[in-house]
Amino acid sequence: MLYYCIMMKEILCMMPSELEELLLAYGEKAYKAKQIFAWLHRGAAFDEMTDISKKTRQLLAENTTLVYPEIAEKQVSRLDGTVKYLFSMHDGQLIESVVMRYKHGNSICISSQAGCRMGCKFCASTLGGRARDLSAGEILSQIIVAQKDIGERIDNVVMMGIGEPLDNYDNVIRFLDLVGAKGGLNIGYRHISLSTCGLVDKIYRLAEESYPITLSISLHATNDTERSEIMPINKKWCIDELLTACRAYFDKTGRRISFEYTLIHGKNDSPQQAKRLAALLLKYFSGVPFHVNLIPVNTVAESGFSAGDEQSIKRFIDILEKSGVNATKRRKLGSDIDASCGQLRHKKNTD
Ligand code: SAH
Repeated sequence: MLYYCIMMKEILCMMPSELEELLLAYGEKAYKAKQIFAWLHRGAAFDEMTDISKKTRQLLAENTTLVYPEIAEKQVSRLDGTVKYLFSMHDGQLIESVVMRYKHGNSICISSQAGCRMGCKFCASTLGGRARDLSAGEILSQIIVAQKDIGERIDNVVMMGIGEPLDNYDNVIRFLDLVGAKGGLNIGYRHISLSTCGLVDKIYRLAEESYPITLSISLHATNDTERSEIMPINKKWCIDELLTACRAYFDKTGRRISFEYTLIHGKNDSPQQAKRLAALLLKYFSGVPFHVNLIPVNTVAESGFSAGDEQSIKRFIDILEKSGVNATKRRKLGSDIDASCGQLRHKKNTD
């Protein structure tokens, strides 16, 4: 299938086999494709590809486009080394990526769309709606540019930045092919997580693709009334439909599902809600592994939501664990910079 970005010959969207075809079509040697693919995934411009002849480089420049995102702004946390990038795309769209330093390696949180149309009430990324989808190459290039900039390998990728990845399905799938391809970034699928607010039809489709990635579900509530209030997607697919799809995903892939639960004080963080959350998840996942990530909400001025104190968060975790549910509180990194996604783009767009 020819994707839009390939018809535009955006070279960062091309798999090695497609680069080969392109070279062959112009009478070039197919083996050069591997070298070019490796250069691209290291963030090289055409004129930096020193083992490729000038003639071939010129041919590529004339027949494809190559634009890496520009670092419009970069913030580095003095507390934990977290790096936040505001990237400017070829058309001036702004997106964000965050590199987090862990003992087990570097992780990057990347964006899948410029803006988002899901409308979750607590989220900064959706405030201005969705401007456009990112191409597969644009999703990939966030990792390429960040890796080059920090001068260290990036080991893990989480698709939890701006946008709803399953609302940009074809480009995200192609991105998964590119990121796992030999000779490029070569990041294993077990080191990749995709987070979704719950596009149920796409969860079934993704299960059929059989990439062994981790699926994260943004749940954030324990019944339909409360979930629909903060996440409009719940009016299209209710919690039962979502959790049934998650169970089918697990049954098909054998991959443990991770549930994200953003704790919003006075909305979803009471002891009763903790008990209800445990009962709800155990109803669908009894006897199979799953995990709950608790995220104290980052205050976004427009939402008016705030997180509870440490004690109420601890109480929530204790109730889950006593009920037999594995739960951890997300470590807060980069608290001295605007590390949560969507805030910087929103700030710049409304300045
Ligand atoms: N659209 C996808 C991925 C982007 S959001 C999704 O919904 O999962 C990534 C995660 O950050 C989600 O779990 C989302 O609910 C959470 N999130 C968004 N805004 C937040 C905020 N202000 N505080 C804490 N978590 C937030």
